[in-house]
Amino acid sequence: MMPKKNSPIWHPFTQHALQDEMTRVVRGDGAYLSTSDGRRILDAISSWWVVTHGHCHPRIVNAIQDQAAKLNQIIFAGYTHDPAEEVAALVLELAPPGLDHVFFSDSGSTSVEVALKMALGYWRHLGKQRTRIVVMQHSYHGDTIGAMSVGARSVFNAPYGPLLFDVISVPFPASGREQITLDALETACQKDSPAAFIVEPLILGAGGMLMYPAWVLKEMKRICEASGVLFIADEVMTGWGRTGTLFACQQANVTPDIACYSKGLTGGALPLAVTLCRSDIFDAHYSKDRARTFFHSSSYTANPIACAAAKANLEIWQDQQSHQRVASVARMQERAIEPFRTDPRFANVRRTGTVTALDLRTSEAGYLAKIGPELQAFFIERNLLLRPLGNTIYVMPPYCVTASDLDEIYGAIRDAADATAWRRNYVT
Ligand SMILES: *Cc1c(COP(=O)(O)O)cnc(C)c1O
Repeated sequence: MMPKKNSPIWHPFTQHALQDEMTRVVRGDGAYLSTSDGRRILDAISSWWVVTHGHCHPRIVNAIQDQAAKLNQIIFAGYTHDPAEEVAALVLELAPPGLDHVFFSDSGSTSVEVALKMALGYWRHLGKQRTRIVVMQHSYHGDTIGAMSVGARSVFNAPYGPLLFDVISVPFPASGREQITLDALETACQKDSPAAFIVEPLILGAGGMLMYPAWVLKEMKRICEASGVLFIADEVMTGWGRTGTLFACQQANVTPDIACYSKGLTGGALPLAVTLCRSDIFDAHYSKDRARTFFHSSSYTANPIACAAAKANLEIWQDQQSHQRVASVARMQERAIEPFRTDPRFANVRRTGTVTALDLRTSEAGYLAKIGPELQAFFIERNLLLRPLGNTIYVMPPYCVTASDLDEIYGAIRDAADATAWRRNYVT
């Protein structure tokens, strides 16, 4: 018999047999969290990549409070409201030019499902048999069945394998091997007449914070365009400043055919997502024929309170100051990671914009490497919220982080490498 759990709650990505004690958080303020036992924890991963300007940003809090007193929720088929209209207009203003329509949903995963359904609907309504999806090795696009299908097959989804649809996978463009990726993509686009290629621009997040340069992104878009393959940019993680520009695609001067934004869309305050598309995709569904309707909805589509939070966040991004803040975090991150580039205990020391990652050299790699939970436990002892992906430690702070906060974080990473507990695991 299993010992009794502390709580009836079943937590995400949590093996309760190994970790049943949860850190109980009572407040969030800027880059810090306060716990029920009086600790202050530095949130070095933006609470799983969602918090952008800091926890409980006053402008976003006020917007939520105001909207909550006015209109909480409204059916979104046949009805609309000001916060949604304003968010749609502002997102289109900030996104790469050429995106014209905005479809709301509630999470990154649903924004990806919507993107896939848009792509398949587009080809069907044009009368073309194009249903296959091309993906990149090591990708992560969410945990619903469609999103898992276009993501890497891994321990995350092994039990559900029989339910996942087949995709065509191109290799990750590792440094020096970019042409292999581009050739594979070109072959897939020409040979298999796929409906779409879906990719995380510049950084593959859950797949290990793997980074590739903007020129590869630009080439991939060019290849898709040449074969009429729809290019879906999953910017659920890379959006909202993480890569140094508001959206990663902007660094490659690329306008995707379909773009998914979520996580930081509300500044990390409430769940909300948008899937943007070019007008030809909307137009393929636009018809007096009701069978061509885009049949997708969730109960809380464009929830007014979430939209009010998003609107406040988008207004914050209209201030030049928030872009300067991103640039300054990117500079501070570079300074902080610099010494690790020559530290033999680490490999693949890397940075794109405000995100850094480095791999602790251990004999065991991969997500299930024991080192992952060991490191996590080490960091929480230091009051740091860091959640390594196996032996890959990454830092993705909210933009209110200070240089001394970063000193704290990287000092702990150095100490983690010094600690003896896992030295026996080093590759020599
Ligand atoms: C987190 C993530 C998702 C899924 O978003 P959820 O809101 O967790 O459903 C999809 N794509 C990428 C690139 C992500 O990082």
